[in-house]
Amino acid sequence: MALSIRAPRGIKDVLPPDATRFESILKDAEDILALGGFRKILLPLFESTALFARSIGGATDIVEKEMYTFLDKGGDQFSLRPEGTASLLRAAIEHHLVDPSRLVRLYYSGPMFRHERPQAGRLRQFYQTGAEILGPLSPMDDVDLIALIHRMAVSFRIPGSSLLLNNMGCPVCRPAYRERLVDYLNAHAEELCETCRKRTVQNPLRVLDCKVPSCQGVLEAAPRIADSLCPKSREHFRRVREGLDGLGIPYVLSHRLVRGLDYYTETTFEFVSDALGAQSTWAAGGRYDGLAGELGGPDVPGIGFAAGVERLWLLREKAGTLPDPESHPVRITIFAMDPAGQIPALALVGRLRQEGIPAAGHFSAGKIKGAFRQAERDGALFLGILGEDEIRSKTVQVKNLETGDQTPWPLDDIKALAEMIRKTGA
Ligand code: ATP
Ligand code: MG
Repeated sequence: MALSIRAPRGIKDVLPPDATRFESILKDAEDILALGGFRKILLPLFESTALFARSIGGATDIVEKEMYTFLDKGGDQFSLRPEGTASLLRAAIEHHLVDPSRLVRLYYSGPMFRHERPQAGRLRQFYQTGAEILGPLSPMDDVDLIALIHRMAVSFRIPGSSLLLNNMGCPVCRPAYRERLVDYLNAHAEELCETCRKRTVQNPLRVLDCKVPSCQGVLEAAPRIADSLCPKSREHFRRVREGLDGLGIPYVLSHRLVRGLDYYTETTFEFVSDALGAQSTWAAGGRYDGLAGELGGPDVPGIGFAAGVERLWLLREKAGTLPDPESHPVRITIFAMDPAGQIPALALVGRLRQEGIPAAGHFSAGKIKGAFRQAERDGALFLGILGEDEIRSKTVQVKNLETGDQTPWPLDDIKALAEMIRKTGA
């Protein structure tokens, strides 16, 4: 029967051996966050739609077009999470982890969902790992967080990676800038694409992010936020740059880097790679000083970032730093040659597993050729054969599939067999 149901568009099945490699990539990134003093938080896959609308912003692409939103059986409206920051803040506030006098550092990992046009490096379900710091922040915390991501770039040898940096101002200086920008955009409305004209009204800062070539010239000449920063934001920006300079972390000032989410204030940044093609950003984040207060928590600053794990995969693949696939996920496949061997085979795999040896059974009796094929499919290093003779002599014939050597092992000394298997190909 032909399979008529397929994975939804933009969803990627990750098969063995890639699934364990994918997890290693995730773990390598998480290890760097843990070294930075961040602690892991597990967040739900869906939240009230209102949480995302309020935090990410109602006029953003994510909330307007990309969320998977549904009514549950109780009639409440939820959305699959399109990102992690909103959930993390919600949870941190709800459980009183946010404290105006102390920093809290948290990280999360997991799938995110956005209804976007699928292409290389752009999926509808994709993994992110991200971290947030909440509390009385210094601009040096911005630098420290960026330094951790820089550490990832170095440690995974990400090819052609560079850091783009901007400061988007604060509630004091942004409104005035916004007005200057809107005046400019209105004066050039005829040269802008339709999306830009719409955004000029709804979310003018996002216009700066437009990728349409015909808009580029107009946007390059647009007023720059750097020229409108208030003294406090200007000082913040200066100190972040000073910190990065002090650590020798290179960056490129990017006055049009506004990010797609409304909650950002002050520092925004992206790590891009020229090895990624169109989807060049592999990690991105920034400060969001008003968000905790906006969500009903203590009014403390926050900063965070998220990295796209599929993009990390693509980059590590290019760099040749993908983790090795697991060799011999099954160490030994045990073959019961006939029905009388089935229960001894079951008992044997059980005892080997107890010894910590990954063991699989091939119980459906038959030709030895089939058992070899099964062992190969299992990725096994050894094939254990239980035939009539072996049952009688309480032994198992163990064949090393690489060398072809075959030795009988007594069934009453599994520890010795386990030790031999452990040593071979360790
Ligand atoms: P982009 O410019 O690629 O649309 P974004 O601004 O929407 O990114 P963020 O919301 O900041 O991205 O997400 C952080 C990171 O998550 C991105 O830099 C990217 O690596 C990854 N990411 C975002 N959307 C997707 C997606 N649809 N598929 C795969 N990875 C994604
Ligand atoms: Mg996007």
